[in-house]
Amino acid sequence: MILATREDIDYPHIDWVCDRCGSVYVSDGPPDTDHCIEGHHAEWRPNDEQLATYVDLLESLAPGDGILVSGAGPAPLMSIVEEVGDGWLRAESIDSPARKVRWERGDPPTIEWTRLDRDHTHYQDVYHVDTVEVDDGR
Ligand SMILES: [Zn+2]
Repeated sequence: MILATREDIDYPHIDWVCDRCGSVYVSDGPPDTDHCIEGHHAEWRPNDEQLATYVDLLESLAPGDGILVSGAGPAPLMSIVEEVGDGWLRAESIDSPARKVRWERGDPPTIEWTRLDRDHTHYQDVYHVDTVEVDDGR
């Protein structure tokens, strides 16, 4: 089974928003500055609209679909969806432990993931979800 390579993917990360004024900072993960462009001491939070879009995407997936996930914690995952539940999915990876992604369509929406090879599962924030084409070699 062959998956898309990382070079095939436009790799947009979620935007980060200043909790004071809503100004947006485009960053690979939480910004490494604690000041927004307006000069606030910012507590960055993920862009809720993008999270909601990712929740829509996650809820549209079925076993066999290709998925790309990145966020805090584990290395980015490019894999096949193995199992889908109510508000979660499990994906196996070729070269790293299986992951579980879970989400809530709340206000704000949340998306988290964890590795499944640990005794104590620790969920961390997801910053980006995308689909990838799966090439099964046929
Ligand atoms: Zn601000």
